[in-house]
Amino acid sequence: MSDIRKPIVVGNWKLNKTVDEAVDLATEIRNIAGSLHKGEVGVAPPYTALAAVAERLADSNVILAAQDCYHEDHGAFTGEVSAPMLGDVGCTHVIVGHSERRQFFGEEDGLVNKKVKAVLRASLTPILCIGELLTEREGGNTFNVVERQLFGALDGLDEELVSRIVVAYEPVWAIGTGVVATTVQAQEVHGFLRGKLTERYGEPVAHAMRIQYGGSVKGNNFEGLMAQPDIDGGLVGGASLKAESFIDIIKHFR
Ligand code: PGA
Repeated sequence: MSDIRKPIVVGNWKLNKTVDEAVDLATEIRNIAGSLHKGEVGVAPPYTALAAVAERLADSNVILAAQDCYHEDHGAFTGEVSAPMLGDVGCTHVIVGHSERRQFFGEEDGLVNKKVKAVLRASLTPILCIGELLTEREGGNTFNVVERQLFGALDGLDEELVSRIVVAYEPVWAIGTGVVATTVQAQEVHGFLRGKLTERYGEPVAHAMRIQYGGSVKGNNFEGLMAQPDIDGGLVGGASLKAESFIDIIKHFR
């Protein structure tokens, strides 16, 4: 964490929570968020709960994020939800390219790039997820993979647009497994990514961008991660589903 970048933690609720459950959890987070000054906190409920959670979070400092979006703004695309629609319902951030989208829904860098552009076009903030599989790490390909995913997703964007993006480095082998990357492993990749962003977009842009870590983040490992110079918060799955375990993480922002 640096003094210049305000860290950001977002809870990704994935395919969980009824509307009532989502509003209850959002209420508990809202109640403590006012006392958190050292970082930003957000939640990404399922689409069905966005409107109700938006209402509950109105006039609070809790960010509302969506978990995905389609890359076209409107049209004959049955079942899809667009970035302008997410803005309309109160979202300010959209997670894009999560490894589960890549793994289970066949999303590749080209599509992720289109989604990043759609989110920016709607004046929302993309949270761009990248990260290597275990086999890729074991094969010594971590840096190649994250560089390809990063620049694939940012293709065609200028410095100004890139500077509006939050990057989330999430090693796939650490997601939902309880196996968190060591602080050394995480910082190594975060430092690498910031170096690549510096080469391509210049030091002021790269220095200002937030790079979250994701993958089995919990209250007991968050502080160590945040002590690393290039880790600027977390994208949290499992531990964001209960108020207690999420508050255990975000209380570090007091
Ligand atoms: P996890 O998920 O915290 O349950 O590992 C992280 C994520 O998928 O963003």
